[in-house]
Order: sequence, then C-alpha cells, then structure tokens
Amino acid sequence: MKIDRHWLAGIPRTPSPNFDDRPDPADISLLVIHCISLPPGEFGNDYIDRLFCNQLNPDDHPYFKEIYQLEVSAHLLIKRDGSCVQYVPFDKRAWHAGKSEYEGRERCNDFSIGIELEGTEFAAYTDQQYVQLAKVIRALLEAYPKLSAQRLAGHSDIAPGRKTDPGASFDWQRLLGLLK
Ligand SMILES: [Zn+2]
Repeated sequence: MKIDRHWLAGIPRTPSPNFDDRPDPADISLLVIHCISLPPGEFGNDYIDRLFCNQLNPDDHPYFKEIYQLEVSAHLLIKRDGSCVQYVPFDKRAWHAGKSEYEGRERCNDFSIGIELEGTEFAAYTDQQYVQLAKVIRALLEAYPKLSAQRLAGHSDIAPGRKTDPGASFDWQRLLGLLK
C-alpha cells in the first residue's frame, strides 16, 4: 500500500467537505482509532459516506435526526470486509476527534490522522479489518515520520468520559503484533 500526494493509492475516494488546513501541515504525529456504524450496529450500507459528506437523510432512520447536521469526517474508513474509503487527504485536518487531549496537548484534530473502523464497541472487529488497518498504518508510518507505532490512541483515550470508541472489542495487542 502506497501513499501518493496524501491519498492512499488505488483506494476509493469519497471526498468530504468537512476538513480544513492543519495549523502546522508538517505536524502529523498521532493516529486515532475510532469505530462507527449507522444506524448503530448495522453494517454494509452507505450511510457513513453520507454522514461524512453531509448527505444523511434524517428521514431514513430515527437516529439520523440527531446526527444529520453534524459536520464531521475522518481521513479513512475500513469496512467489515477490509475495504477502505478515504474522505480527506492526510495533510488536511479532518473533523473526527472533537474536544480532545493527547499528552497534554489539546485539539488532536490539528496533528492526527483519524481512522474509522466500521463496527461497534461490543462486536469483534473482523480479521480483514485488522490486516488492512496494519497495512494502512505501515504505509502511514513510512510517509509521515512523526507518526510511530507508539503514538496510537483510541478516541476514548483522547476524549475520556465523552467517547468510548473503539471499545473493549478492539484488540490493541493484536494490532501491535501485526505492526511488528
Ligand atoms: Zn470516535
């Protein structure tokens, strides 16, 4: 897997309008792992793409009425079958972390890359997701030298008390093992 001008080469793109410039484009130094499913617990539809592109229809599900006006994004989604979609180029600031702090530094969106796994905090992630996530992270570590396998956080780690993803269902040891 290769990164070409801040996009993963050969990976489908669904450009999101929800991004802006990083305060320091050279500071890409944290990876944040999230999970998402829309509606919660359902997989394999295009609602995540719609949310990140501000095209979620509030009439499609009661839960969507609560979230359709959010302007959010992540750099990348890894679906249950391991396939990816990229929404925001890595040198731009995606809007995934919200109020957050890592090692005393606030506004993690400024300096992080946000990766969403299609899933929930309770259901095991798929083998294909772990394999693909490790491939993506290896490519990112190569392209952005300030990243490292030690600078990996869950959304719950940088927004404790507010966020709980990717949840106990995410096996950090398995990921770290794949990155060795
Ligand atoms: Zn999250």
